[in-house]
Amino acid sequence: MSTASSTAAATPNSFRTGPDERGFFGMFGGRFVAETLMPLILELEEAYEAAKADPEFGKAIAFLNTHYSGRPSPLYLADRITRDLGGAKVYFKRDELNHTGSHKINNCLGQILLARRMGKTRIIAETGAGQHGVAVATVCAKFELPCEIYMGATDVERQAPNVARMKLLGAKVNPVTSGAGTLKDAMNEALRDWVTNVRDTYYIIGTAAGPHPYPALVRDFQSVIGKEVREQMMAAEGRLPDVLVACIGGGSNAIGLFHPFLDDASVRMYGVEAGGHGLDVENGHCASLTGGRPGVLHGNRTYLLQTEDGQILEGHSISAGLDYPGIGPEHSWLKETGRVDYVVATDKEALDALQYCTRMEGIIPALEPAHALAHVMRIAPKLDKEQTIVMNLCGRGDKDLFTVAKALGMKI
Ligand SMILES: *Cc1c(COP(=O)(O)O)cnc(C)c1O
Repeated sequence: MSTASSTAAATPNSFRTGPDERGFFGMFGGRFVAETLMPLILELEEAYEAAKADPEFGKAIAFLNTHYSGRPSPLYLADRITRDLGGAKVYFKRDELNHTGSHKINNCLGQILLARRMGKTRIIAETGAGQHGVAVATVCAKFELPCEIYMGATDVERQAPNVARMKLLGAKVNPVTSGAGTLKDAMNEALRDWVTNVRDTYYIIGTAAGPHPYPALVRDFQSVIGKEVREQMMAAEGRLPDVLVACIGGGSNAIGLFHPFLDDASVRMYGVEAGGHGLDVENGHCASLTGGRPGVLHGNRTYLLQTEDGQILEGHSISAGLDYPGIGPEHSWLKETGRVDYVVATDKEALDALQYCTRMEGIIPALEPAHALAHVMRIAPKLDKEQTIVMNLCGRGDKDLFTVAKALGMKI
C-alpha cells in the first residue's frame, strides 16, 4: 500500500460527483464490513437511491427542517468581530440555533425518514459527547420508534446532562466499557448490534464516516447548510463567499457547508481539526488529517490517528465532539486533491476564541466551532475589507459550560 503523501491525487473534472459506485472518493471510503453486514449496506444504498429520486421524500425533509428544526438558520454578519479583526467581513452560519442546538438534527431528520421508508422498527446510534445521541433520541420520540444509544462509559460519566436528556426522551443508553470507553468503542458496539439485529434495526451514524453509503448520505442531509449559505450570500453580498471555515470532528458539518461550493474555484475552504495540547504531543490531539496516516476503521479507508503498527490512538481535545480518531473519507480525498486546506487549532486557541465570540457578539459558541473561529481570527486580518468569510457556527456552548468553567478556573 502506498502512503497517501507519495501519490498526489489527480484533479477531477468535478469535486461533487463522488463517491463512485463502490463508495470510493479516490482511494478513500469503500465498505470494509463483515459479510453479514453487506446485504444491509446494499439494502440501505438501494433505499437511499430510491428516496433521493422521490420528490415526496425531499418535501418531507424540507417540511421538518422548516417547522421542526427552524431552518433556514440565519446568516449573520458578526459586525463587532469584523471591525475588531480589521479585514474580511466575517459571517456566521447560525446552525447552533437549530432544534437540539447543533447541526446534528439535519442528519437525524433525514435518516429517521429513511428508516421509516425502509420499514425499520428499531433505531440504534453511537454517540461521543452525546449531541448526536440527543438528536437521535429526539427524532425517535417524535416518530415513536424505540432507540438504543451506545456511549462509551467514560463519556457517560463526563456528559451526564446529555445522558439525562436522552433518557428523558425515552432512549436506552448502553454504556460501553471496552477500550477507553469513548466514541470509537461506542461505534464498534453499535456496528456489532447492527450485525446481530439485521432485520428490524436501522443504524443512524452521526457523522459523514462509516461504510458507504453513509458518508455520502450524511453529507447530502447536511448540505442544506451550504445550499442556504449560497442563497443567503447572494442576497446579502450579491456574490459567493471568498472563504469558508468549519471545524472537523468526523467532518459532517464541514462537508455540509463545503460541498455545494466545491466546484466554485474562487471559494477557498479551511477545515479546522482539534490540535489539543499540540501536534507534537503524543496522543495530545485529534488532528487525523494533519497528524495521521491512511488506514481502515469503521468500514472505510481514511486518515486515522494510529501508531507505527496500526493501533488506533485515542487522541485528545478539550471539545468532546471533535475527539474521533478518524475522519470522513471525502475529507481525506479533498485533502489529497488539495481542494480543501486542513489546519489545526489548539485547546487554548479554542477557549480564547469562545470567550472572544461571547464578549464581542453575545453568542456563546460550542467548543467545536470555537476551533473554526480561532482560524478565522488568524486569516480575517490578512484579507481585505471587500472579502467575505463564512464560518459555520455549528453548535451552542451550553453543553460546554462545565468544561469551560473548569478550564478557566470558575466555580459553578
Ligand atoms: C458533533 C459535533 C461536531 C463534530 O462533528 P462533525 O461531523 O465533524 O460535524 C462539531 N460541532 C458540534 C457542535 C457537534 O455537536
